Amino acid sequence: MIDEPARRAPREWGGIRAPNLLLDERQKVMGGNAPRMRTSLDAVPVFEAGVSGFGPVKHRMNFNENPFGPLPSVLDVVRETAAGLNRYPDMLNSSLIETIAEHFGVAQESVAVGGGGAAVLQQLLLAAVDQGDEVVFPWRSFEAYPILTSVVGARQVRVPLSGVDQDLESMLGAITDRTRLVFLCNPNNPTSTAIDHDALDGFIDRAPEHVLIVLDEAYREFVRAPEVPDGIRRYGDRPNVAVLRTFSKAYGLAGLRVAFTVAHPTVARAVRKTALPFGVTRLAERAAQASLRASDELFARVETIVKERERMESTLRAQGWPVARSETNFLWLPMKARSADFGEACRRDGVLVRAFPDEGVRITVDEERANDIVLSIAQEFARS
Ligand SMILES: *Cc1c(COP(=O)(O)O)cnc(C)c1O
Repeated sequence: MIDEPARRAPREWGGIRAPNLLLDERQKVMGGNAPRMRTSLDAVPVFEAGVSGFGPVKHRMNFNENPFGPLPSVLDVVRETAAGLNRYPDMLNSSLIETIAEHFGVAQESVAVGGGGAAVLQQLLLAAVDQGDEVVFPWRSFEAYPILTSVVGARQVRVPLSGVDQDLESMLGAITDRTRLVFLCNPNNPTSTAIDHDALDGFIDRAPEHVLIVLDEAYREFVRAPEVPDGIRRYGDRPNVAVLRTFSKAYGLAGLRVAFTVAHPTVARAVRKTALPFGVTRLAERAAQASLRASDELFARVETIVKERERMESTLRAQGWPVARSETNFLWLPMKARSADFGEACRRDGVLVRAFPDEGVRITVDEERANDIVLSIAQEFARS
């Protein structure tokens, strides 16, 4: 048996539709001869790259990617490293872990890496959760949470947002003896808003010690509000907090797949055990190191994105949209019933945005020219 929330797992990710046939339906299709797969996978969608179009896509503003290509210094390192592709990467990723530990001022024993943030989240789940345990997370939030939770065979406990914000009181209330892990997404994808330090301190102080709190800071570098804490600095001494960071967003390495967690050494060690062998390639490792060396240059680009975000936010507000206050590289427009139509209208003009039907639209901040296309469509919608 799968529980009801699991049955309602998302059928698409990043706007890519997925058929979500349950096991019995699949067996019917296949004539009933298929080997039995784990029942927990019944709730997990299969992805099919089937984005139908209205002409060519000029701008991808639906994946929260960085619009800027890799820095020349980073590309040089990738090219040099490519000459060694006949060799396996360093299984322990010692050099990358050393660089990360030094850069963020933490102990190497507290760092574990993986092939992207989603992989690290899965490693954390595999490290902390047994079959049938409960995983509490806000909803709507990052689409990987329900999928990865089901993949490891745990029970999803979704706690609805309060408006655009994570409802920490209700999340605390949802924790039981069976809860092993809680995801907090700070700032939250897709609603773009962040939890401040008072609220987060309160949650972490009151959450039972047996529960691992995974603080997902995929967008940390875009946060400008001073009341939103840096999880690595503020909760570095808490044994039950694991902070997730990725090179996919601000560092612009989404295509290389590399991310890390900073956690208690016991947790970090367990997360290393659950990694796929050789899951972080040498290309990814070297590019991540080169990116940390070039942080000043990269953060100038992040600043450009933040300025564009602020421009878009105020333009949309002036148009009359109740746009959420973003601490990320995307905006959340709660367009409700008009969300899907807005998504289609953008697509007709060559821009992909992420529409969640009847909820809202998530728009990744791109370069000025691309952002202007979306702003003018929003203006038309505001008038009609
Ligand atoms: C993008 C994202 C990640 C990580 O993405 P990867 O590309 O797998 O590193 C993690 N959490 C959230 C909330 C994200 O939006």
